[in-house]
Amino acid sequence: MARQKPPLIQPAADPVLPDPDVISGREPTVQVQLQRIPVTQALGETSFIPVCEPSLDGNELEYVTEAIRTNWISSAGRYIPEFEEKFAAACDAEYGVACTNGTAALHLTMAVLGLEPGDEVILPTFTMIATPNCVRYTGATPVLVDSETTTWNFDLNQVEDAIGPKTRAIIPVHTYGHPVDMDALNELADKHGLWVVEDAAEAHGARYKGRRVGSLGDAACFSFYGNKIITTGEGGMITTNNEQIAELGRNLRDHAFSTERHFWHRYVGFNYRMTNLQAAVGVAQTEKLDDYVAARRHNSALYSELLAKIDGIRTPPEAGDVENVFWMYGVLVDPDVFGMSRNDLREALAARGIETRTFFIPIHFQPIYHAQYEGQSFPVAEAFCANGMYLPSASSLTDSQVRYVVAAVGEIASAV
Ligand SMILES: *Cc1c(COP(=O)(O)O)cnc(C)c1O
Repeated sequence: MARQKPPLIQPAADPVLPDPDVISGREPTVQVQLQRIPVTQALGETSFIPVCEPSLDGNELEYVTEAIRTNWISSAGRYIPEFEEKFAAACDAEYGVACTNGTAALHLTMAVLGLEPGDEVILPTFTMIATPNCVRYTGATPVLVDSETTTWNFDLNQVEDAIGPKTRAIIPVHTYGHPVDMDALNELADKHGLWVVEDAAEAHGARYKGRRVGSLGDAACFSFYGNKIITTGEGGMITTNNEQIAELGRNLRDHAFSTERHFWHRYVGFNYRMTNLQAAVGVAQTEKLDDYVAARRHNSALYSELLAKIDGIRTPPEAGDVENVFWMYGVLVDPDVFGMSRNDLREALAARGIETRTFFIPIHFQPIYHAQYEGQSFPVAEAFCANGMYLPSASSLTDSQVRYVVAAVGEIASAV
């Protein structure tokens, strides 16, 4: 008689949240408008404005065609080293290691650092799930810290307090494109002998004291997912000035084949290779990086100028000697002043054809992590989660679309 097979993966239980309303459930349905409200006229025929979309208006098609014509479509081919060189140079970094996605770039880097169970890595609770997951994949433990309201990045005083004998590394996340205060962080890390790995997945082209993110720690990880500032469909890259990290990353990306003897493996590697097709898109996108950054900064400045006239909407920060690239144009809704909650505002915008997205749900609220952080509180991240949302943020957004979105917010505010 056949015996029962072991159970498949089981889901984690939902946490009991202090205020369940913090997490909105269902996404509002975005209506495609046909000239229903007066401001729509600014947009012409239809007015569906997506929260984000890629721009593919450079040499993408030409380079991809070349890759196909020459039969180089897998993980060898000239676009891969070219993309690595050009993107690393755009980050003021010496080396680039292209891989399958941003999460793979983070995991590869954690593997290169040799993390093991028992090791700790400090990172913000207010981030996307890949940041703690890459630590977990190695068996090490993410240690969470809260954000600061001035930059929306993690609070360096709390980072310092979180450093202990098991700490091995710190992952600063340049939240929504705003660089972390890297000089202060590096000083702290140097004092304690810790690795610094930038999670720059949202910050392509951002500047800190004139220097590009991607070269400001021991290594940095980028994502080229479809909604990132530049995209390869799916893709990622490690950038670094550390030759050893680059070499190990390159080796682990490709099953850690030994150089002296084929089919001989001294590390547990991965197949995280990028294809020449993706890299071809990446080269074309890198050529446009400065244009997209300029567009995002232009749109954000216009949004912030227009939104300043509406009470109860906090616009995104740019604090210190930095250039935020506003990957997502995030705002915080103060329900008491605005007269309506973030969730209700999202519904009202959706009814006007405007797609929005809520901020991240903090890591300590996640079913897979909450038990580990029982009793710890992160009030700033929790307030971001309750009140934050992104307005449409694509590089291709036009001035009239920005004006339309702000006019809609204004109309909604004056109707309550
Ligand atoms: C997008 C993102 C990632 C993951 O990138 P993928 O390419 O989707 O794997 C990691 N960290 C942050 C902060 C991100 O926003």
